[in-house]
Amino acid sequence: MTDVLIVGGGPAGLTAALYAARAGCSVRVLERGAPGGQICYSPLVENYPALPGTSGAQLAEALTAQAEALGVAIDYADAAGAREAPGGYAVDTDAGEYQCRALVLAPGTEHRKLGLDGEDALSGVSYCAVCDGAFYKDKDVAVVGGGNTALQEALFLTGVCAHVTLVHRRAELRGEARLAAQLLDRPNARMLLGWVPERLLGENGALTGLALRNTETGEHKTLDVDGLFVAVGQMPGTAPFADFVDVDENGWFAAGEDCRTRRPGVFVAGDCRAKSLRQLTTAVADGAVAGASAFLSCASSPL
Ligand code: NAP
Repeated sequence: MTDVLIVGGGPAGLTAALYAARAGCSVRVLERGAPGGQICYSPLVENYPALPGTSGAQLAEALTAQAEALGVAIDYADAAGAREAPGGYAVDTDAGEYQCRALVLAPGTEHRKLGLDGEDALSGVSYCAVCDGAFYKDKDVAVVGGGNTALQEALFLTGVCAHVTLVHRRAELRGEARLAAQLLDRPNARMLLGWVPERLLGENGALTGLALRNTETGEHKTLDVDGLFVAVGQMPGTAPFADFVDVDENGWFAAGEDCRTRRPGVFVAGDCRAKSLRQLTTAVADGAVAGASAFLSCASSPL
């Protein structure tokens, strides 16, 4: 029995761990991948206060070390659901059952897919330029999406690949104009605005190109590429807990800034929560609120 169990070892979960551990609780974090979550894959974090120009991996490493130095245990486990249990709650995982007095759910988000045939089967389709960009050294790639992630992925890839084409379905980008200007400054980058991939083209199990459709004119054309980086947003990673705490119509955890759920002692934190701004700063803010609240919950219901 842990005082505070945290599902998800991203910035929100690890910050919740810091706050609960510093308050004197025993704390365990369950993480199915690398501690640090998606921030690990950000080559450059420019908007975290007082730490301009840090890499996401550096931030993740520092946050993990800070939590572990406070006695936080981090277990590699994939959570499949949560339920009530004597004295609190239980979380079922592929590594067995964990029991706790207070629970913080911080499962983050998952990559949204394009939903095209071959997306899962063809080699050459990726969702992370930092992870897979090196496989496309001196090759031609496309990035699909018009948000900040797509722009950052494309910028990163211009340093590795021969040519980078950003394909976005509208004429206006959703991401920051500053990033777009940086990308257009790169001689090996270009943008196809108002185009959407309709089909993935492949040979012998490997991607060879995209069949594109112009969203205004309906015109079709083919873009030959060796790699495709999909950056069309995120989906909530809340599915295993959707029958345990409330989610909204889009699947985000339905909780306010106090991170409380309808269950006493259960809190949600980070990008998985319904909110208007999903950033590192707002994730760690949630983590602080949820971690401190989890401690208070334990303190007010002693065993
Ligand atoms: P996002 O802002 O939601 O952008 C997703 C993009 O994908 C949009 O341009 C959208 O087009 C497009 N899209 C969605 N579904 C599509 C489909 N089926 N086919 C083609 N295109 C599709 O997601 P994000 O870029 O991952 O960013 C998520 C959040 O993290 C945002 O708040 C972002 O600002 C933040 N972020 C911040 C930074 C930073 O450095 N500050 C870096 C990365 C991310 P439409 O525009 O037409 O909807």
